[in-house]
Amino acid sequence: MLQRLQRSVQLRYAAAYLVVTMLVLVLLNVYPLDFAQDMVFRSKEASVVSKAEMVASAMAGLDRLTNDGVEQVVNLLRDVSISRIIVTDESGLSLYDSANIDNTEGCYVVYPEIAGALGGNDVFHCRASAEEIESVAALPVIYRRMAIGCVYVVETDTEQAAFLLGIQRNMRNITTVILLAVLTVCVVSVLLFSRRMDRILDAIRVVREGDYNYKLESRARDELGVVAEEFNALTERIRTTETMRRQFVSDASHELKTPLAAITLMTDSVLQNEMDKETVLEFVGDIGMEANRLSRMTEKLLQLSRLENVKETALEVVDLSATVEKVFRILWPLARERDITLSNHMESGCTVLAREDDIYEIVFNVAENGIKYNKDSGTLEILLYRKDDQIILMCSDDGVGIPQEERSRIFERFYRVDKARSREAGGSGIGLAIVHDMVVKYGGIINVAARKTGGSCFTITFPWYQEVAQ
Ligand code: ADP
Repeated sequence: MLQRLQRSVQLRYAAAYLVVTMLVLVLLNVYPLDFAQDMVFRSKEASVVSKAEMVASAMAGLDRLTNDGVEQVVNLLRDVSISRIIVTDESGLSLYDSANIDNTEGCYVVYPEIAGALGGNDVFHCRASAEEIESVAALPVIYRRMAIGCVYVVETDTEQAAFLLGIQRNMRNITTVILLAVLTVCVVSVLLFSRRMDRILDAIRVVREGDYNYKLESRARDELGVVAEEFNALTERIRTTETMRRQFVSDASHELKTPLAAITLMTDSVLQNEMDKETVLEFVGDIGMEANRLSRMTEKLLQLSRLENVKETALEVVDLSATVEKVFRILWPLARERDITLSNHMESGCTVLAREDDIYEIVFNVAENGIKYNKDSGTLEILLYRKDDQIILMCSDDGVGIPQEERSRIFERFYRVDKARSREAGGSGIGLAIVHDMVVKYGGIINVAARKTGGSCFTITFPWYQEVAQ
């Protein structure tokens, strides 16, 4: 039992609840009863002691206590309601006893109360049983400062005893009802809690076995309801990630398969056919191009996985205009090959908080695409400015443009609008996916729109980071 209590939170709470309730009930049973009994005893003391005093002071008028004298005085006090009265002399010999049963007259009475009173003390005590309350008072009869005897008075009260018994019975009944109610509530809530907990644990086991479609039904708005909701959200997240992972692996293998198949085919042709030197060189050149494409693709794949596993590295303040200039310097030979004009209009102070390599990668990819998918003798223009708390970088080209229905998909991994053209341009379909993930990582947004004059315009927005002067 103790082990089960240690292992189960719900049982621990239920046990604590029960113990506290029982403590409160015990207090409720003891304290009010004690208080009521005390009140009754006090009123009894006042009444019985005053009656004993009355008898004792009447006896004090006699200089010697004798059977006749005492009886005469007691007869005079007949109106005073007393259950039993015993009067003794100074040696404890009973001179008068009003009791019919166990009458003590003529005997020495050795009650402790009488002994106490003969010693010169006023004695009182009260006893309560189920049937009656018995109050006893014993007082010395003083004559010339000497105890010449003792008055022993007993009063029994059945009414007050019944009253106290009634309170006790009511309390016991109320306690039983409360205890039963608390016990029922404890048992029901423990059972309900266990059932709901078991369902959550079952669901966790099912998902652990790989069924990510499993959903927990819960309409409750309490803590367990929230746990169920969080569990469903977590499962949904795992399911999406798992689907994306599978898709990514299958896309990546598919993309790698194509250049590999081309390399195998061309190698077989070179080996199996008798070719002149010129054709062999052409084939080897093509094999080299495919191999380059493979290495570019694997490099980008590595970059993607690095982006996913990135641990927080130190960020720096990056001036975007400097990055654009650097990218233009690198891309200038590629642009010149096709007579494409590169131009820019940049405001100063366009700074963001990021890793410089990431920002370079973003600008490079977008600008390189602007050249790759441009028409010969076209233009590529970059605008950079700040608007409120945002840095805006716009990259426009005069190229083939992107059909509207494809625009939302170009940021997906391996998505290419015109596969043949992209392959020809050495594309892998991963560049914009990397750009998108990086922009989002730095709290930015990337969009693409068609230009009225033809071509595309990529707009990237970053939160502005204002460098504080030291
Ligand atoms: P790729 O390596 O194929 O260029 P990206 O992810 O960079 O891969 O781009 C995805 C696709 O989006 C490209 O294959 C291309 O079809 C299209 N695209 C990207 N930029 C442009 C652009 N400036 N003009 C037209 N099409 C573009």
